Amino acid sequence: MAPCSLATEQDGEIQADLVVIGGGPAGMQAALVAARARRQVLLIDGGTPRNAAAPALHTFVSRDGILPADFRRLGLAELLRYPTFRFGRGLVEAIKGEAGAFQLKLSGGKKVRARYVILALGLVDTLPDIPGLKENWGKGVHHCVFCDGYEQRDRAWGLLVKDLSALEHAPLFRGWTADLTVFTQGLPVPEADLARLGEQGVRVESRPIREIRGGSGDHRLAGLLLEDGTELPIETFWVAPDQRQPPLVESLGLDLREDGAVQRSETCETSKPGIFAAGDLSAGRMQQAILAAADGSRAAFSIIRELMVRSRA
Ligand SMILES: Cc1cc2nc3c(=O)[nH]c(=O)nc-3n(C[C@H](O)[C@H](O)[C@H](O)COP(=O)(O)OP(=O)(O)OC[C@H]3O[C@@H](n4cnc5c(N)ncnc54)[C@H](O)[C@@H]3O)c2cc1C
Repeated sequence: MAPCSLATEQDGEIQADLVVIGGGPAGMQAALVAARARRQVLLIDGGTPRNAAAPALHTFVSRDGILPADFRRLGLAELLRYPTFRFGRGLVEAIKGEAGAFQLKLSGGKKVRARYVILALGLVDTLPDIPGLKENWGKGVHHCVFCDGYEQRDRAWGLLVKDLSALEHAPLFRGWTADLTVFTQGLPVPEADLARLGEQGVRVESRPIREIRGGSGDHRLAGLLLEDGTELPIETFWVAPDQRQPPLVESLGLDLREDGAVQRSETCETSKPGIFAAGDLSAGRMQQAILAAADGSRAAFSIIRELMVRSRA
């Protein structure tokens, strides 16, 4: 038996052992494992990574500070060296069928048959509706202190909290700056919390923000304007965006966890047999490129084992 097989096109349909949907770190890593295991793997990517607005990708050892676009370019170049790997730019619009015999419909009408699917589609961020926030997203406005805190260290930081439970995380940010103000957008903060945060060197501002003002050059904000006209010299602002699953995941009706992440088994399989999930969409709070990549490996290992050892197909 020939141990490797190629993604083939028959009667206008592409056939593959595995289709990986999403070409971020999770999807590229999953595809790399599968290609190196000599399985026919097709990676389809819409080209809209979550970190598209960021000037650099940090905290990924050996790639710390790389441009997000360069990270993807390097990953894809590595993948294209493998003869059983194929890549398509576009969207997967629908998935039908079952483990061993999935049919995928791609934008533009192409059809794909696959034995297994890995969903690595990332998440959709919805930013708070504050004027100026979107324009500075990934530059002076950030969400992950472990990703971008170091570059913004020792500046005047603002942290937006959606509810009072988030206040307990505020002291974490003091590891990067001594100048930290928490913004509650009008939410009153109990005296006990104010006193505790004050002891930890954290200021609390309940007056709502009217506008976030971008700065020039080095990703430093010019400041915040409050509803009452007060200007505050905040240079870096942190928010936790609301997040939802991408439309394709919603359309599949998969079981989700309470925090909205895709529910998976230990082998990364979702509630629909044969469909696996990796990366941010199943991560919960810990969302980082290197974690997504590791997750892609785990999902691919499981599928390769299925294909080679206990095939259900
Ligand atoms: C502003 C910002 C800055 C960040 N900075 C860092 C950082 O410095 N360091 C770090 O480690 N992490 C950082 N992150 C987090 C990091 O970007 C994510 O954890 C990581 O990208 C998740 O990888 P993923 O592969 O799960 O998803 P993504 O990288 O989001 O990739 C998902 C891909 O799936 C594609 N897709 C979606 N739907 C479809 C479909 N139907 N068909 C085909 N393709 C589809 C999208 O186009 C996208 O390309 C940052 C995030 C943001 C928002």
